[in-house]
Amino acid sequence: MSKSMRFALFSVLVAVVTALGLVAPAGAAREIEPRPSTEELARQLFDLQLRSGGEVRVAPIGASNQGRPVWSARVGHGPQRLLFVTQQHGDEPLGTPAAVEFLREVGIGNDPHQRWWRDQVTVDVVVRANPDGHEHNWRYNYAPDADPEYGEAGKGYDINRYHDPAVAPEDNPATEAGLIRRHHAEFRPHIAVDYHMQGRYVGGDGREITASLMWPTTPGVAAEPLTLAKQVSVVARTAMDAGGANVSQYPGGDYQGIARNAYGLLGSGSVLIELSDMGPDHEQSQITSALTSMHAITNATADGSLHNTDPAEADTIPPRGEPLTP
Ligand SMILES: [Zn+2]
Repeated sequence: MSKSMRFALFSVLVAVVTALGLVAPAGAAREIEPRPSTEELARQLFDLQLRSGGEVRVAPIGASNQGRPVWSARVGHGPQRLLFVTQQHGDEPLGTPAAVEFLREVGIGNDPHQRWWRDQVTVDVVVRANPDGHEHNWRYNYAPDADPEYGEAGKGYDINRYHDPAVAPEDNPATEAGLIRRHHAEFRPHIAVDYHMQGRYVGGDGREITASLMWPTTPGVAAEPLTLAKQVSVVARTAMDAGGANVSQYPGGDYQGIARNAYGLLGSGSVLIELSDMGPDHEQSQITSALTSMHAITNATADGSLHNTDPAEADTIPPRGEPLTP
């Protein structure tokens, strides 16, 4: 048998096994790929679009400096609009697979809860905002000839310092930040959540911090979006902690180019969520924790319970604590 015939037979076998669901038997936890390649991520998104019968809509919001599409995947058609952004920093991957799972769980299927949910909210995800940084496995975008104020010469811009509302998207030196700014302006989300990853820390009680979050801290954010951001923070923290996480506040800065601050200034309930980089053994649970936050935020938005959440509870979330030393 020729090599190509063997490959063809193997491909058919894989397709049959996958179609029968033999790869992930019911009841067994399915391993989620933490770092899908650029091509694999696109395949996953268009597979969701196909299998959801168009409930998940995938479209590029533009291209990275190296010409890779920056994808938006949108699900639902309700009046409450939520924007999730993942992986602005290319080497902080785990929000991306969480978002793909989220899109799968709310987009594929027609049970009454899913249909109700999609009637209440529209969730748009910028999935892997920085595909070039992912490919290079670094924080920045790809602009090696730039000498960025925020970023690294020879590499590129730190996208998450270039969302300043005072800079027009077309004048933005950090290409992907300009794309997100324009996308935000078109979508006008009530809530915007930005998923990142941080190092390892311990809280005051000696337990490891698994994630940290923060609302806008720059002066000038109006009371309404600030309150909303704190309510989102409380809902996310409560759900993540109930799932075994240990969530702290994130000690972030007040520079208005940071997405968390910029989208607060622009009127969204804007929150940063940082998953701790706890190593390979914890990646699946960290993806699940991010997924839990996505579900909790959208559910509380859909059923209105978000607005009955006490925003002052956000201030009682403990500080992050000290770095974990090996
Ligand atoms: Zn980051």
